[in-house]
Amino acid sequence: MENSSTTPKPIRCKAAVSRAPGEPLRIEEVVVAPPRAYEIRIKIICTSVCHTDVTFWRMKGYPGVLPQIYGHEAVGEVESVGDHVEEVVVGDVVVPSFLAQCGECGDCESEGSNMCGKLPYRPVGMPRDGTTRFTDAEGAVVHGFLGGASSFSEYTVADIAHVVKVDPAIPPEKACLLSCGVSTGVGAAWKVAKVEAGSTVAIFGLGAVGLAVAEGARLQGAGRIIGVDLNPDKFEIGKRLGITDFVNPKELGEKPVSEVILEMTSGGADYCFECIGLASLMADAFRSSRNGSGKTIILGVEMHGSPIMLDSAEILRGKCVMGSLFGGIKPKTDIPILVNRYLNKELKLDEFITHEMGFHDINKAFDLLIEGKSLRCIIWMDR
Ligand code: NAD
Ligand code: ZN
Ligand code: ZN
Repeated sequence: MENSSTTPKPIRCKAAVSRAPGEPLRIEEVVVAPPRAYEIRIKIICTSVCHTDVTFWRMKGYPGVLPQIYGHEAVGEVESVGDHVEEVVVGDVVVPSFLAQCGECGDCESEGSNMCGKLPYRPVGMPRDGTTRFTDAEGAVVHGFLGGASSFSEYTVADIAHVVKVDPAIPPEKACLLSCGVSTGVGAAWKVAKVEAGSTVAIFGLGAVGLAVAEGARLQGAGRIIGVDLNPDKFEIGKRLGITDFVNPKELGEKPVSEVILEMTSGGADYCFECIGLASLMADAFRSSRNGSGKTIILGVEMHGSPIMLDSAEILRGKCVMGSLFGGIKPKTDIPILVNRYLNKELKLDEFITHEMGFHDINKAFDLLIEGKSLRCIIWMDR
């Protein structure tokens, strides 16, 4: 018999809603529906802003999905569960993941892929039915984001395939980082590039993603890690995360960055990573890689949707380009490994948190990231 006291009811709470591209988010009251089958409702503890939130928030040619609630890097506590959810119980600490791991499909069972074939990556709509669990104060639809993550809300509903239960011994603000940016960077060095000990790495863009690539490369034993960024403030923090050499494109005059890296490395870096989201720099990262075996890994989400131009003759010389969502991380398998590596004091996470603030200041957190002043700003929902 149904027990009405435990049947989840809709929850009224605050969310930061985007109503027009690039305009400040509005803190509004929303209603979050109960979780349906294979879903859980999460009370968000804290969230942070990743550049992917900024890219989607600014996108003008992306009609029909506003109003929307962004946010996908977060940690929370399970508030209620829908039918067929056995993996977590109320009170568990979970991080949402914008990629699913159903655990049953051929892709999930394969060693190499982190792109679940049963619940493919989708920017809008719940994974199983494409609908939303949010409505505004007038009862109108508010869209969700990235597999239902929508963490810029006090409560959100996520698919069970999109959440990872984590050891509550990890402080929430550190677990939050593993929900997207830091896992993406560390994973790209560890699981996609499989950086070899003693090798040379070049990283374009030293935000949280690029610096996490440096951290991943350091853990893999890379010999030399070159960081490229227009913002010299990133160089100080970069040193603490294993970056050995810096290149500021502004100081090179007309000389392309690739030319400088080819000189510095006597013919090219073994691994190049693009962590900015500009096609021209993806091509320059590729040109900076070594003939014969150089690998270029693209992590940046192209801000203007522009295609990349590559010289096929360079590909014939044995260079390879790869891309990755979430740095090859299989969320349920790999995030707990990263949590343990943090708890064992191997993986550095503390350095990525540069600011902390309350939910009402969320637009400031956007400004800090856009102005290049923050790596990750932790937004506490109860402050
Ligand atoms: P960020 O804004 O913190 O960092 C970007 C860095 O690039 C900044 O330090 C900035 O100074 C630098 N930069 C900008 N233009 C530059 C230029 N022309 N030359 C050199 N440096 C330049 O962003 P982030 O949160 O670290 O995200 C980085 C990228 O990774 C974004 O495109 C984001 O969308 C993407 N991302 C991808 C995944 C994935 O799964 N592949 C996951 C998370 C983030
Ligand atoms: Zn799957
Ligand atoms: Zn992200």
